[in-house]
Amino acid sequence: MKTFNLSVLLSLAVAVYCVPIQQVTVQDEQLAESYLRKFFNLTDETGPTIRRGFSPLITKLSEMQKFFGLQITGTLDGDTLEMMKKPRCGVPDAHIGEFSTFPNGPKWRKNSLTYRIENYTPDMSVAEVDHSIEKALQVWAKVTPLRFTRIYSGTADIMISFGRLYHGDYYPFDGPGQILAHAFAPGPGIGGDAHFDDDETFTFRSNTGYVLFIVAAHEFGHSLGLSHSDDPGALMYPMYSYQNPDTFVLPRDDVNGIQSLYGPNPDTDPVQPDPEPPTTPDACDSTMVLDAVATMRGEMLFFKDSFFWRSYPQSNTPQQTLITNFWPNAPINIDAAYESQQLDSVLLFKGRKVWAFSGYDLVSGYPKPLSSFGLPKTIKKVDAALYDAHSGKTLFFVGSNYYSYDEARKTMDQGFPKPVDQTFSSMTGKVTAAFQYRGFTYLYSGPYMFEFSQRSKRLFRVLRNSYFLRCTNF
Ligand SMILES: [Zn+2]
Ligand SMILES: [Zn+2]
Repeated sequence: MKTFNLSVLLSLAVAVYCVPIQQVTVQDEQLAESYLRKFFNLTDETGPTIRRGFSPLITKLSEMQKFFGLQITGTLDGDTLEMMKKPRCGVPDAHIGEFSTFPNGPKWRKNSLTYRIENYTPDMSVAEVDHSIEKALQVWAKVTPLRFTRIYSGTADIMISFGRLYHGDYYPFDGPGQILAHAFAPGPGIGGDAHFDDDETFTFRSNTGYVLFIVAAHEFGHSLGLSHSDDPGALMYPMYSYQNPDTFVLPRDDVNGIQSLYGPNPDTDPVQPDPEPPTTPDACDSTMVLDAVATMRGEMLFFKDSFFWRSYPQSNTPQQTLITNFWPNAPINIDAAYESQQLDSVLLFKGRKVWAFSGYDLVSGYPKPLSSFGLPKTIKKVDAALYDAHSGKTLFFVGSNYYSYDEARKTMDQGFPKPVDQTFSSMTGKVTAAFQYRGFTYLYSGPYMFEFSQRSKRLFRVLRNSYFLRCTNF
């Protein structure tokens, strides 16, 4: 028992040592309390202040941390506060699990539903609003027997309106920021209705402002009976993510959710089926092969499909986010990535093109062709890229060979390509991702990660993805 206590104390000491001391302000505490009241059903009986020892507020905070896949600390840490400040839907996040339906499972008892657009936002043209709403309903009609008909007067099943602050229900909007919209579960009266906060700027397809199509498609999920999902790739995830309306495909989690209520679309064309709904990569999948890994200003970025995980030194849990949520103009399913310290940018490679981002911004002049690095024109794609801080060279892995690029002189080095295993012993498989971190070079081959000394190139260990990308199933 004594040893157990000691190890707990030691791990606490380590945690305190590594994590910079977080100054939680009174405003942060107020934000947290109002957030938990609005979205996690914190009531007055469940205790007023965050300072008092074993307040039920800790329980609610832990519930919220669990929902968002954060480390469950029960305290108002940096990751939790950052999550609370993101723009989101106004409907509470009651449940734990993937897709979920509302308690008691309200759903429409008919497949033919009507909708009516009561008023318009000044942010967009009438035609753009009409088109966005229609397209957002079709997202759901495509995978279910539900069909939507627009009416122009009277009461529709789904009444759609834009409003500010107090707008006729018991759920006032909050001015610009945080809450973007809300909608009511299926039912008579206000049931099924969707309200949009007109203190936000809505757009048709631009990435400045909120894309009405994306916000509306999410809200209509509620109108049809879905609650929030904790899958960060799901449309029903509570936080807003920019996505290109032209290429949007309803994710697997949402398809499963809505089909659990209404079943599949009987009119699906068996000859030309729709594209397979995307699934969210899972850090707990030990067979996962990452697309690329890079650093960015001290953080680690792990790319897979449309997503990346960010792991930064102050953070307990890598955060998964859509690539386009961070860089709206970026490609997805990338081949390789590296951080150029000379450019203070992250470079993303896909096919014969290269993108460079400095912070959130696309560097002017990009995307550029792969050949602008001096790589042979016959190369269709690179498998991995790695900036070697020791030599100032960037290594491009192509098949079983690699090229060396001099970042300072902006030219390819002579004497390349070389076989990878000539320099990195035991690296006989294709390099699928690569990066350097804290004095080590990591080359990935499939789900395995080979750890080499940065200077001597000596192989230390063979590790799995999970070494950095922690699985947070609890
Ligand atoms: Zn919502
Ligand atoms: Zn409302």
